[in-house]
Amino acid sequence: MQDVDKTKAQLLQEVATLHQQLAKLSASESEHKQAKEALRESEEKYRSLVETARDVIFTLSTDGTITSLNPAFEAITRWSRAEWLGKHFARILHPDDLPLAMEFLQRALQGETLPIFELRVVSRSGGYLIGEFTATLQIQSGKVISILGIARDITGRKRMEEALRQSEARYRTVSDLVSDYAYAVRIEPDGRGVVEWVTEAFSRITGFTVRELAAGGGLARVIHPADLPRVCQRLRVLFSGQQGISEHRILTKSGEVRWLRDYSCPERDPAQGRVVRVVGAGQDITDRKEAEEALRKAYDELELRVQERTAELAAANAALQAEIAERKRAEEALRHSEEHFRLLIENALDIIILLNGDGTVRYQSPSAERVLGHKPEEAIGKSGFEFIHPDDLPHVIDAFTDTIQKPGITPPIEMRVQHRDGSWHVIETLGNNLLNNPAVAGIIINIRDITERKHMERELLQAKEAAEAANRAKSEFLASMSHELRTPLTVILGYTSLLLEQTFGNLEAEQADPLRRIDRNAQELLDLITAVLDLSRLEAGRLPVEVREVRIPKLLEELQAETQGLRERASLEFVWQVEGELPPIYTDPGKVKVVVKNLIGNAVKFTTAGSITVDAHSRSGGVEINVTDTGIGIPQEALALIFEPFRQVDASSTSHLRGTGLGLYIVKRLLELLGGAVMVESAVGRGSTFRVWIPREPAPPDC
Ligand code: ADP
Repeated sequence: MQDVDKTKAQLLQEVATLHQQLAKLSASESEHKQAKEALRESEEKYRSLVETARDVIFTLSTDGTITSLNPAFEAITRWSRAEWLGKHFARILHPDDLPLAMEFLQRALQGETLPIFELRVVSRSGGYLIGEFTATLQIQSGKVISILGIARDITGRKRMEEALRQSEARYRTVSDLVSDYAYAVRIEPDGRGVVEWVTEAFSRITGFTVRELAAGGGLARVIHPADLPRVCQRLRVLFSGQQGISEHRILTKSGEVRWLRDYSCPERDPAQGRVVRVVGAGQDITDRKEAEEALRKAYDELELRVQERTAELAAANAALQAEIAERKRAEEALRHSEEHFRLLIENALDIIILLNGDGTVRYQSPSAERVLGHKPEEAIGKSGFEFIHPDDLPHVIDAFTDTIQKPGITPPIEMRVQHRDGSWHVIETLGNNLLNNPAVAGIIINIRDITERKHMERELLQAKEAAEAANRAKSEFLASMSHELRTPLTVILGYTSLLLEQTFGNLEAEQADPLRRIDRNAQELLDLITAVLDLSRLEAGRLPVEVREVRIPKLLEELQAETQGLRERASLEFVWQVEGELPPIYTDPGKVKVVVKNLIGNAVKFTTAGSITVDAHSRSGGVEINVTDTGIGIPQEALALIFEPFRQVDASSTSHLRGTGLGLYIVKRLLELLGGAVMVESAVGRGSTFRVWIPREPAPPDC
């Protein structure tokens, strides 16, 4: 078509040139004979071209009169040229096109280059033909002499276009009825899709104009990126010639997401065998999808709620089951416990009875029959007081009165109850007032038969009393024996001393030596007897504590004087240290003296060189008197033993030293009497310290 237009324009141009040349030629024919000849040939050539042209070629005078027509006019319009030559061109046109035709004529005459335009021409058959016109001016010597026009019959093409337009309109109407939108995409040989047309609705849905769609990547540009692979897959199916339906999302120009249900159908070119067009239609199913989505969500929520409810019910059921199981377990435990306690009560050695508030027996455990011989039916319903010894009744009634007045356990009491065989048993009872406890509503009495125990206690007491009496007798015997022994021994010692002092005449050396041995052994015997006497007095309780106010410094002064002989015999340094402000204490001074004398005696005995220190000071609510020596010391393992009677450390090393092994025992016992104590610290070879503590006052006698 473009080629034809081009040829046509060229032709027009050439025809115009020809006319100009003709004009020139006619003006100076004589001058340009050769040129005229050439022109004639050329004119001939063009005339034949015009004569044979398929388009109508015509000329108009400047007033619009038709001045020439080529044969194509007759072939196309069926008019004869003669009928129209010399007539005004407007008469052959459709009346409606006249204004346009006149306008073009005027514009052409004003020198404007006209575009191709369409006009309808009356045909001989009475209808109209549609012509496509071009026109150009013929100018001679600067003056317009005529208008040259070419018209092409485009009636057939126009009819086809109209038919197509009508069918497309019909198609659109139909597709508008069945769908929201429709489109057609031409598929280029290189596979590119060119949007041919889309319905208004498509633009309305997508927000893109047809031009925007055609320019920017076709319909694919609106597809939602997430659905693009799926749509591409469908396109491949389409290109294989099959039609298809897809539901996919699009992104509108404003960024909104919409759902389309798209039916597309490929159109094949039978000649090329390839898909040349895709025609599609579809609906905006966003509302339906949203409804579906809402429905799905609602369903999901419902499902979730159902699941939650199911879980709740399952949990509630599990809790119920657990509670039932727990109750069963508790019942079972209770049953076990009940059985356990019942068996305990039934098999207990103790008797358990349950009394009402008035003292009547409501229950008695099986052991009651075993211990006291009464069958349950003989006791239940009777007053518990019936079985009690008349002498014990008053204090039992008192105790029972106390028991019912306050809930809980009462102190144990003893009483005698009568066995079925008439004998009396001593029992110890423990009451528990559970009158306020609805499960019991009574007083539980726990009864233990202590007849046997009482019997044994009595026997034990008698045995103890007998033993004590025997011990006292022994001590008395020892005391009197010691006394009896001391008297003759004192006489022996007196005479031996007189003999040794040569009161009864001179003594030879061989006489004096055995006499001294007699004296020493008699002295040892006297010490032993004195200690045994002290001990027996102690054991017999014949050493009463005579408490007086004692001033320790004065007591130590007296001791200094009393031990003078002892000290003189030893070549040791004696140190006496007494705390200045020592307050008086209340104790038995005689016994304190015996204690300290004993310790000084031992210190002298077991010290060959060095010193002996006696010091007294306040300590822990009393007085501490220490006797420290620099003697042989006592091994660690012997420290605990030396306070036991007749115990001495390794006799071999001290065999030459006189002793009974009773001194420290007496010291310990005397201090016990005074409420005091004795302790020793010692190191072998370095000496010993005996610490005596006497309380400020003796402890009360009953403690
Ligand atoms: P004894 O009459 O034998 O001295 P004691 O009961 O007074 O009996 O002492 C028991 C033993 O304790 C002594 O035989 C001696 O071995 C040891 N003993 C007591 N006092 C001292 C002391 N000051 N130094 C070393 N040993 C001592």
